[in-house]
Amino acid sequence: MMKVLAVGGGGREHAAVEALYRSGAEIYSVMKNANPGIIKRSKKYALIKETDVDKVCEFAKECGVELAYVGPEAPLGAGLVDALEKIGVKCAAPTQAAARIETSKTFMRELVDKYKIDGNLGFASFSNAKDAEAYVKKIDHEIVVKPVGLTGGKGVKVQGEHLHSFEDIMEYINEIFEDNIGGAGVILEEKAVGEEFTQMAFCDGKKVVPMPLVQDHKRAYEGDQGPNTGGMGSYTDSNHLLPFINADERKAALKIIQSVIDAMAKEGCPYRGPIYGQFMLTVNGPKIIEFNARFGDPEAMNVLTTLETGFTEICQQMATGTLKDDIKFSNKATVCKYVVPEGYGVKSVSGKEISVDEKGIEDSGSVVYYANVDLKDGKLLTGTSRSIGVVGVGDTIDEAEQNCEKALKFVKCDHVFVRHDIGTKKLVQQRVTHMQQLRSA
Ligand code: AMP
Repeated sequence: MMKVLAVGGGGREHAAVEALYRSGAEIYSVMKNANPGIIKRSKKYALIKETDVDKVCEFAKECGVELAYVGPEAPLGAGLVDALEKIGVKCAAPTQAAARIETSKTFMRELVDKYKIDGNLGFASFSNAKDAEAYVKKIDHEIVVKPVGLTGGKGVKVQGEHLHSFEDIMEYINEIFEDNIGGAGVILEEKAVGEEFTQMAFCDGKKVVPMPLVQDHKRAYEGDQGPNTGGMGSYTDSNHLLPFINADERKAALKIIQSVIDAMAKEGCPYRGPIYGQFMLTVNGPKIIEFNARFGDPEAMNVLTTLETGFTEICQQMATGTLKDDIKFSNKATVCKYVVPEGYGVKSVSGKEISVDEKGIEDSGSVVYYANVDLKDGKLLTGTSRSIGVVGVGDTIDEAEQNCEKALKFVKCDHVFVRHDIGTKKLVQQRVTHMQQLRSA
């Protein structure tokens, strides 16, 4: 049995741990919250901060793990992979230098620019508000304002959606500098118009093997209203495309990812591990919104639920540069909805008791993943981030959505909410119609 270290305590990590477990790994996990789903599958676990590199390495040594899977971005940015590799643990995750594809939005845009990779957007980064102001005055297109560093997917503001005037834009830019949000300055990007999709892939430093396409829902409230969040839910289709995107457009996105992987190898920081490409499908093809140096969360819950090839083997191959092409996912659609604490996206109400009838969910044919919940004195309590992910599976998106809703009834708490519109016929059709309108304009 392969001894595998799993780092992280969210829904994405629970999904990864399940996939490792069913492919025969012996799991040793570290996380900061006591995630009951991960604990159940672990031979041993430690409750430590995932970014405490020394402590995580100590635990890895003590357990004699051979391979590591790292879920969240913060430990990647803190250099956990570099430290683990130094003590002889192979990692299915990128080094600190390779993780810059996510941890520095400027690094990513400059790399794509340097290697003339398709899909880039106009951008400029600034280390002070005055220069940013001069740029905003000069340009003649709409922009998106982003902190350069990590903000957990919540620091982005879009002109026309969150920012409605020059004053709004400058106020937010000033706030980023004054509060040091993200810690590395501001990047202003050209706004891309279209439908968003996620293409994730497994990488071994050279080779790229795709996962099914996913569409996430960043906005907190139904009808795509409210603040941006880490993601409220997501769906996949049985043919591994999405209803508004065709095979050629997907190919274009995969070509962009392969070009990025090639460029990183040339730059001396080869990329190993799952990579996440967020794209806007525009009438001129897919444009790069961002890359993440890991699975997306919730997207991981969709694709790992339908992964048929052994994940342990895939991780081993990613870590050792021996990735094989024949990775299989079942031809099922999935809909994932996150149960999140009241106030999530603005100010979460946490520490509330939540109950999950695992058997009820299982019997209904769906899958439940525990996320930012904490097992304390036998009680399951909500944290400040997303609580429980429920994945419905079906032959169509519609069927998967209905199954997800049936399963959600087995999660009980008075202080949570769910975006029930995710994966519904109505919302999916809106996306299709939006794209049709753009194409015919
Ligand atoms: P990010 O954290 O970079 O994924 O951004 C969060 C969300 O902001 C994305 O999911 C998009 O909806 C939106 N966004 C980010 N960058 C752009 C862009 N250049 N054009 C249009 N929308 C964007």
